[in-house]
Amino acid sequence: MKIHEYQARDLLSSFGIPVPAGSTLTDANDAAKIYDDITTTSGSTLAVVKAQVFAGGRGKAGFVKLVNSATEATAAADFMLSNKMVSAQTGKEGLDVNTLLIAAGVDIADRPSVNNQPGVPDEYYLAITTDRNTRRNTLIASREGGVEIEQVAADTPELIIKTPINPQIGLQPYQASEVAFKLGFKGKQVRQAASIMLKLSELYHAKDCSLAEINPLIVTDPTDTYPDGQVIAIDAKFNFDDNALFRHKDIVALANPDDEDPREIEADKFGMSYIALDGNIGCLVNGAGLAMATMDTIKLFDGEPANFLDVGGSATEEAVTEAFRIILSDNAVNGILVNIFGGIMRCDIIAQGIVNAAKSIGFSVPLVVRLEGTNVEAGRKILEEAAADLPTLQAAGDLGDAAQKVVAAVG
Ligand code: GDP
Ligand code: MG
Repeated sequence: MKIHEYQARDLLSSFGIPVPAGSTLTDANDAAKIYDDITTTSGSTLAVVKAQVFAGGRGKAGFVKLVNSATEATAAADFMLSNKMVSAQTGKEGLDVNTLLIAAGVDIADRPSVNNQPGVPDEYYLAITTDRNTRRNTLIASREGGVEIEQVAADTPELIIKTPINPQIGLQPYQASEVAFKLGFKGKQVRQAASIMLKLSELYHAKDCSLAEINPLIVTDPTDTYPDGQVIAIDAKFNFDDNALFRHKDIVALANPDDEDPREIEADKFGMSYIALDGNIGCLVNGAGLAMATMDTIKLFDGEPANFLDVGGSATEEAVTEAFRIILSDNAVNGILVNIFGGIMRCDIIAQGIVNAAKSIGFSVPLVVRLEGTNVEAGRKILEEAAADLPTLQAAGDLGDAAQKVVAAVG
């Protein structure tokens, strides 16, 4: 499960990690008042208007905007709420923006001498996630944080510091201090940065996160209270382990169904998993491994999957019918490949689901079906008997045959 940045900021704050104050809005007419309130409290005219969407790269897409007046705040809010955001992470369709955050802007200190170019803002990357290779939750840090972090990881992986967290004793203060020194923090900043790392680790464990990310962590310009500048978080992203949500009612309450893909939610209601992709072939499969193999095979024959819907092991006929409804609700789908390897899932249930779907929704697009395993004969018989309702159906022998047929059918 994901949450928005403004919710992530509240979480950080509740664990004692400093973040600038902010408020959310869904109507651009509210921007001016929020801007006035926030800047009156902060004592600076700088504020930042930020789209709250489940995708990164907002800064580069123009959906994080620094503003210096109520008029600018309103204009930025109006733009973000009336345009789709297209970034490297959204696909070309882009995402609607329903909610904005207006936060107090911060003056980011310029990075001191060590860095190559002067004038670069002092932005760091900090995250905790599970490293499957070491089987440890791992603190990831870089002094090259900010909007180019993906590029840094790709081009200069040596600038990314990884620190494994011992599962029994957690992140240790000496580890956090060591990372803070390696990142180049100076003076009082070292303690502040290390403390943020320890609190982030505490939060990660307490809430069963699968990702807790601060990017950027920044150093502010010096003030009287913080002569070395203050280390604070100005953007955060969290993912939570869905299997642990049962013990985190507070996190479940933060869900944002309006910003999730409605097909994912619909599939989830029936215990199925739907994943949207960019192509034009809908895939109905059982099991994530079979989904991967199915997509690889489609791509091998130069096709592109539009999605995959994993019906799992215990779907009912109704769920299978719903699965087709979900797949067909995507206009990009020009053909469907059903690839079922019946184990616990029985082929006759899938076949009956197909027939029911044909009767209730109708298949206007080519449908290629490959069934193997438990009750396969019964399944095939059901499909043969319903042939009249399934004019676009082609039966396939093996997966290669199925993929070739569906790729040919969608042209
Ligand atoms: P993202 O692009 O979705 O990761 O959005 P961020 O919230 O990380 O903002 C992108 C960039 O905008 C940051 O890396 C900063 O350089 C800049 N930025 C965001 N908030 C502020 C702010 O309050 N003050 C200043 N000076 N820059 C900011
Ligand atoms: Mg960011």
